[in-house]
Amino acid sequence: MNLQKTFTRPLRLARGHVIVGCALFALLASSLTLVGRGLPPPRFVLDRVTQGGLTPIGEYSWRKASDWLVGRKYAVLTFDDGPYGHGVDEQILGVLHRHHAHAIFFLVCNHINDTTSHLLGVYEHEGHIIGNHSFDHLRLSELSDGALRDQVEGCSRRIASLTGHRPFYFRPPFGMTSAHVKHFAEMSGMQQMLWDANSQDSWQTRPEQIRFWSNRDTDNLSILLMHDKPTTAAVLDQTLNDLEQRGFQFVLPEQLPPDTVTD
Ligand SMILES: [Zn+2]
Repeated sequence: MNLQKTFTRPLRLARGHVIVGCALFALLASSLTLVGRGLPPPRFVLDRVTQGGLTPIGEYSWRKASDWLVGRKYAVLTFDDGPYGHGVDEQILGVLHRHHAHAIFFLVCNHINDTTSHLLGVYEHEGHIIGNHSFDHLRLSELSDGALRDQVEGCSRRIASLTGHRPFYFRPPFGMTSAHVKHFAEMSGMQQMLWDANSQDSWQTRPEQIRFWSNRDTDNLSILLMHDKPTTAAVLDQTLNDLEQRGFQFVLPEQLPPDTVTD
């Protein structure tokens, strides 16, 4: 019996299958890569029926494959404690505009005054979202129900009086919350949003450190905490450049996949 003939023929066939398989995979991968580079970020909508759940529009699996192949990542930019005034808000808006980025601005309502109230219209005109960050930036979990209502509901009413509609996202000051505070915000028609990446700009005074922490902390689908203040504004352009070079696109929560945790 010719052992060599018996065993080499199946081996040749298997090798052929492997080569054809590799070629098909390479073709599929390059096609997905080419298609993926030309596509805009995925679109998702808030599904009010499921109380704030996010529902994808279109073919999410196909998008996920192309994102993986081209290394595309997503992050939500959030700016707390504004409006700041003195041109800082406009500086941040200008950088976001240049990067085609949209963000959520969690406003402290006692910062809205005669010189800053016009900014709410600007935020919305430029496609950003206005969120509720309470009226006076207090530790909400330590307040009585009456004081909590003034802080949460009072700020929503103030924002609605200027924009014509109530905010949907709520962020407790200092990220200090409780089941009661969260429930209270939900009863006011809002979804609580914390963060999972921190620029450390609430205490860092050196812009380079804010840039460093923003990049170090931000991962795919991160919600990045920043603040509406001069040091952040000074380094925002470079920070966004760094993130873009790592493949990030800046999106709003409506554009995130349905399984993203925003709380
Ligand atoms: Zn704050």
